[in-house]
Amino acid sequence: MYNAKAYSAVSATSPLASDTIARRDPTEHDVQIEILFCGICHSDLHSVRDEWSDFMSTTYPIVPGHEIVGRVTQVGSAVTKFKSGDLVGVGCMVDSDGHCPKCKAGFEQFCQNAIFTYNSPDEHKTAPVTYGGYSNSIVVDQRFVLRVPPNLDLAGVAPLLCAGITTYSPLRHWGVIEGKKVGVVGLGGLGHMGVKLAHAMGAHVVVFTTSPDKKEDALRLGADEVVVSRNADEMQKHAGSFDFILDTVAAKHDINAYLNLLDLDGNITLVGAPEKPLDVAAFSLIMSRRSLSGSMIGGIAETQEMLDFCGEHNITADVEVIPIQKVNEAYERLPKSDVKYRFVIDMASLKSE
Ligand code: NAP
Ligand code: ZN
Repeated sequence: MYNAKAYSAVSATSPLASDTIARRDPTEHDVQIEILFCGICHSDLHSVRDEWSDFMSTTYPIVPGHEIVGRVTQVGSAVTKFKSGDLVGVGCMVDSDGHCPKCKAGFEQFCQNAIFTYNSPDEHKTAPVTYGGYSNSIVVDQRFVLRVPPNLDLAGVAPLLCAGITTYSPLRHWGVIEGKKVGVVGLGGLGHMGVKLAHAMGAHVVVFTTSPDKKEDALRLGADEVVVSRNADEMQKHAGSFDFILDTVAAKHDINAYLNLLDLDGNITLVGAPEKPLDVAAFSLIMSRRSLSGSMIGGIAETQEMLDFCGEHNITADVEVIPIQKVNEAYERLPKSDVKYRFVIDMASLKSE
């Protein structure tokens, strides 16, 4: 084992603070990575504040972070996919059983034994739970390490590892292609990636936002139209017209207002994970045989496919790069929808801790 620098929180109400954590020495299948950038996902905030305690409670201390890019510093003897010096990414998962039907089908994220990047039981017993990317170093099984396209800006790549795959996977699953009318609800970290990706897939993209000042940005990011969702008349104009809507909202909101915008057989997929349940009116669904579903990140092969797609289309996240000392400030701003459009921590700032 060796020591790594990190930022952790010791309770749901305490700020993140400098800490030293143990990492395992790389086993034969492991890749050791020097973390260069890590994105701040709203899931980090939900987890640090224990807002999902009904579904997955947080074990403290927590070291969040699952939008990791870095450079390989060492590989185990059986590692074939990576070598020292490679630029790589790690997303929301660091392991799974590898042999269940879901793993075999490439859906590691739905494996009963999936190990998430933070707050999952640590099978290597280096610590009670896994510790994430707000750190200068991490050790990950090569099966869960991704190749980063060489042409992309590294800070902008970090958010692809969660926000990118979480939006790419349902867009692909629900057949978003040229000619489809697609809505994206919420222009935050996930939402702005959803807009870029749906636009690159050729869809007609409509952004729904509660923030009128994001209108110009939405168009610049690839939206064809922008609707301020608090304006009922603007919403009504789109009634019954969408093939697919991706809902990225992080707080409780009126899902029926969006269900009513779906065409016959239209689908709305939730990727946002508000802590409180949403109320669904049966009539919103039955009137046009509409469906409501959910989606969680994406499998490893699909994550690589998404990264390669972003490389080809020159897609990265719009980021506000911050030193780690500003992480608590970022946590204050995130729930106020005050980020354009993803905070990314420059891990070089950890050197001074
Ligand atoms: P984010 O950057 O905070 O973006 C969320 C956006 O939702 C905000 O920018 C805002 O957009 C909108 N919003 C916030 N509060 C709202 C409210 N009360 N009513 C209506 N709209 C509101 O968060 P994120 O990192 O994109 O994450 C979004 C959600 O997805 C979180 O719950 C997160 O935990 C979840 N998540 C899920 C997965 C998965 O695998 N399913 C993966 C990652 C994250 P406007 O200003 O445009 O209205
Ligand atoms: Zn995330």
